[in-house]
Parts: sequence; structure tokens; C-alpha cells
Amino acid sequence: MTAPRTFTVVGNWKMNTLKEDIDKLSSILNTATIFPNTEVVVGCPSCYLEYARQQLPPTIGVAAQNCFKEAKGNFSGEISPAMIQDCGCEWVILGHPERRMLFQECDELIGQKVAHAQKAGLKIVACVCETKADRDEGLTQQVLAAQMESLAASISDWSRVVVAFEALWASNTGVLATPAQVQETMAMIREWLRQNVSNDVADSTRLIYAGSVSSGNCEELARLRDVDGFLVGSAALKPDIVNILKALQ
Ligand code: PGA
Repeated sequence: MTAPRTFTVVGNWKMNTLKEDIDKLSSILNTATIFPNTEVVVGCPSCYLEYARQQLPPTIGVAAQNCFKEAKGNFSGEISPAMIQDCGCEWVILGHPERRMLFQECDELIGQKVAHAQKAGLKIVACVCETKADRDEGLTQQVLAAQMESLAASISDWSRVVVAFEALWASNTGVLATPAQVQETMAMIREWLRQNVSNDVADSTRLIYAGSVSSGNCEELARLRDVDGFLVGSAALKPDIVNILKALQ
């Protein structure tokens, strides 16, 4: 029988934290109660990876928000998995919707980054997403399948991958996804893994939800069968995050 999936909260600071903010957020996280069935990771700007690693307790993982598909070379502005590890960090977030939408990262490039990061030994938060147009046109299943396909082709060890789904239409738009919509979509991703990878991977892979998760909606969402945690943006910059870490208790 597959072991229960660890409840996982990834607080993504995006491009919002200077050192003074990292100090404040770290002191909140240092005193927060983290239950044994919960894994916590923060997504930190790359220039502060080492700083955040020093401020946070070892029980909290630190993730870069991106990395390149090559080990080293003439790639100005990029960072490698080895650099992330050299800063004492073991996670990377790849394929975040903001990378996909604002920086035109396509499935092929994301797949190459995932393959390289996994080979280098990083744990990965691999993101997939849907837009409002995808949902309105009934394309959710199709767009998720395409994104999952390119991820799956790049992953050899699923035990070191967390899949994050973001409903872009429910991220800072004033619209929230209903629990039924979240469950239906997360179940779709789990079913895709079952049909295309294996039962074991479908049962054991953590699927986390993103889209304006806050202390107001986290408890209801955490109880959904196919939700194993959250990728949190705005609320990760506030004391709110402490309640989200406890959502399952
Ligand atoms: P949000 O961001 O929680 O502010 O919607 C989530 C994300 O984009 O990672």
C-alpha cells in the first residue's frame, strides 16, 4: 500500500523580498508550528538563496524559482542547479505560470530544465496551469495533458517531484476557484498520471494547488481528496502563511 502523501506548502516569494522582508518572514516561519506530516518550502529570489537558507530552520526547504537546462557556460543571467546546491538549497520551482506567460517558456524548454535539474539532484516543484480562456473553452483536460506529457518525459524519479497546478484565472483576480473545481482538476492530473505513468506514481505524487490560497480558504481546500498542499503566492508574504501550514490539522 502507498504511504500517505505528505502535506506540502510551498510559499513562493516571487520577486517581492529584500533581506529585511526575508528577516521578517523567517522570524514568522521560525516560530510557526510545523506538524510532522507537513513539508514546508519557500521559493526565494536567486540572489538571496544563501541568505534565506541561513535565516530559516533546516526543516524548511528553500527553492530557487527557476534554473537553466545546462550545467555551466555562457548563459548570462541564468543560474544552474549546482549554484542552487552551492547555496545550500535543494529545491527548484520550474515551469511556474509566470515563467510560461511572461517569459515565454514553452513546454519543451521546461521539460529540458526539469530533466537537467533532476539529473543534478534537485527536488522539483513542477508547475502546470490553465488560463481563463482554457477553462471557458473547455480545454482544461487538453492543456494539462500537454503540459504533463512534456514533464513526464523529463522525469525519472517522481518521488522527488511535487506537481503544482495553478488556476491562473483564480490568482489575484478576485475570483476564487470553488472546492469542486479544484478537486475536479487535481483529480484530472492524478488520473493522467495513472493512465500515462503508473498507479504507484499516481498514488504517491503530491499534487498541490495554487490560486489565491489564503487562511480563509485553505482548510476547505486541504480536505479535498486530490489536494496534497498548496503553492502560495500573496499569502506567503504575510503572517497568514502560518495558518496555511496548519490547514490540514
Ligand atoms: P497566489 O500566487 O497565491 O498569489 O495566487 C500563487 C502563485 O502564482 O505561485
